[in-house]
Amino acid sequence: LAVALRKFTGEPTVADSVVSSDSVELVLSDLGAKVSIMKQASTEPEKGGLKTPRFLRKYEPEVWASFPLRPPVVTVMGHVDHGKTTLLDSLRNTNVAASERGGITQNIGAFSVSLSNGAMVTFLDTPGHEAFAAMRACGTQVTDVVVLVVAADDGVMPQTLEAVNHARNAHVPIIVAINKVDISGCSPEKVMNDLFSYAGLQVEQIGGDIQCVLVSAIKRQGLENLIDAILLQTELSDLRANKDDPGEAICIESKVSKGLGSVANCIVRWGSFHVQDYVASGRTWGRIRRMLDDRGKSISLAGPSTPFTLVGMKELVEPGSFVFVMKDEEDAKLFSEKLDSDIYFKKLQQTALQVSLQRASEK
Ligand code: GDP
Ligand code: MG
Repeated sequence: LAVALRKFTGEPTVADSVVSSDSVELVLSDLGAKVSIMKQASTEPEKGGLKTPRFLRKYEPEVWASFPLRPPVVTVMGHVDHGKTTLLDSLRNTNVAASERGGITQNIGAFSVSLSNGAMVTFLDTPGHEAFAAMRACGTQVTDVVVLVVAADDGVMPQTLEAVNHARNAHVPIIVAINKVDISGCSPEKVMNDLFSYAGLQVEQIGGDIQCVLVSAIKRQGLENLIDAILLQTELSDLRANKDDPGEAICIESKVSKGLGSVANCIVRWGSFHVQDYVASGRTWGRIRRMLDDRGKSISLAGPSTPFTLVGMKELVEPGSFVFVMKDEEDAKLFSEKLDSDIYFKKLQQTALQVSLQRASEK
């Protein structure tokens, strides 16, 4: 039937995909069969309950183009001791020095760097393949770009290859950052060749299309080139989100904080969050009492790709899960009550995978 449908309607279908009732009618009537389609009652509750995040929905190209561009969310990965933490620190400090004197960075699992041209880049602060894998396991893809750090003196190592696999499985584009180029006698060229031989990753310098920059995290060299590479990739990926929609975020960590109660550190994936919004996530809900940015400063609004701390949830939010802005208190409560989290996560996982496969195949 799938083949027939594709042939007759031109709609791409896969073995277990959902096809519109119009297509079924069209094909079957073309084959001379009489059909009457009975509408099946929606399995989704009217209010609250399961829903597909707007962030994962499919949009027509014209609609997609009407949404504003959003900053990228970047994860740094690579072998142990190749300089991930140092690189993140350098990127963060560059930013702090430039914008806010004496600003103390809060550890909320992510931070944003604002650039002189007004652009922003959000970095996940938790380098580590486990964090990445955990997010994926929950069906929530939190990152748009992977920066693969390879130390020029040590070269391609087991965790380098593991990181490449993680990024590939998640269909997230990779930018290679060859680090520690300040060490004399190191060989970035060898790293490039080895990446190609061992991982099939061909960087631009040797005729491929993977961006590769040389950096020294410790000496803060090449950071601008890295940022430029990230921004170029952002353009290629055409990252967009409608900031006017109700907010959808992914929780990256949560804890009980003295004086604030249960707090959830989140990254906005779609829409905006405002103080006083009703929110729901998994089996818990709440009303936003306060929002803090990555410097611990109170904010009243958080738009796409912004990392923020959400204060006001009744209970702890499960890391890796979506947090949704709901219409009102009733809706937020209903969402958390009706939710069967197993079904929910399976559904999200499927959707996330479908969307990333689809986006990958479109490129
Ligand atoms: P991680 O395990 O990937 O997070 O690596 P770290 O950031 O902890 O760095 C491991 C070691 O490499 C530390 O001793 C750093 O000081 C050193 N390191 C990091 N970046 C550079 C660099 O650009 N040049 C040199 N020479 N050493 C570096
Ligand atoms: Mg580290």
